[in-house]
Amino acid sequence: MMHKGVYLALGSNIGERERHLLSALALLEERDVHISKSSAIYETEPRDFIDQPWFLNMVVQCETRHFPLQLLAVLLGVERELGRMRSPSAVRRGPRVIDLDILLFGSALIETPQLQVPHPRMLERRFVLEPLIEIAPDVRHPDSKEPLSKYLKLVCGQKVRVKPPPSL
Ligand code: ADP
Ligand code: MG
Repeated sequence: MMHKGVYLALGSNIGERERHLLSALALLEERDVHISKSSAIYETEPRDFIDQPWFLNMVVQCETRHFPLQLLAVLLGVERELGRMRSPSAVRRGPRVIDLDILLFGSALIETPQLQVPHPRMLERRFVLEPLIEIAPDVRHPDSKEPLSKYLKLVCGQKVRVKPPPSL
């Protein structure tokens, strides 16, 4: 069975940020996570620890045969694989090569210790909401059933800019 309406958030704020996003997408394709739509890349101000480089963020829609916990395992595997490209000294906490999150898995509501879907913090983050609404303007939040655009108004103070496409 193919699961549709699965939305993932990607973020990177160290090194070649755009390359990390694109490498993650390529690795996902190899692991039965097929990208059916992709947002623009957004450049966004860091939120929690503000003393770190700006992030590149994007959201993709995908189709997959994996069930949610299997998909999470795939995402963590891809994070690890890209993390290994860092220098050997990159032990300390801080900026991230790549972060992969499950935002929505169709209309599923999942509440387990390892995995919560919809992603519990997605409604507070403009860098997630804006690219998500760009590719899924009609999707409603599976729990509240409200259109996502309703939440965007609340976070419009956060700084986000659309990054121009890479020059070829
Ligand atoms: P964050 O993404 O909040 O900055 P991390 O990426 O370090 O934090 O968190 C990773 C852990 O978050 C994963 O090991 C996973 O078990 C848990 N998690 C819970 N819900 C989700 C979700 N919807 N998507 C991705 N990870 C999730
Ligand atoms: Mg994460």
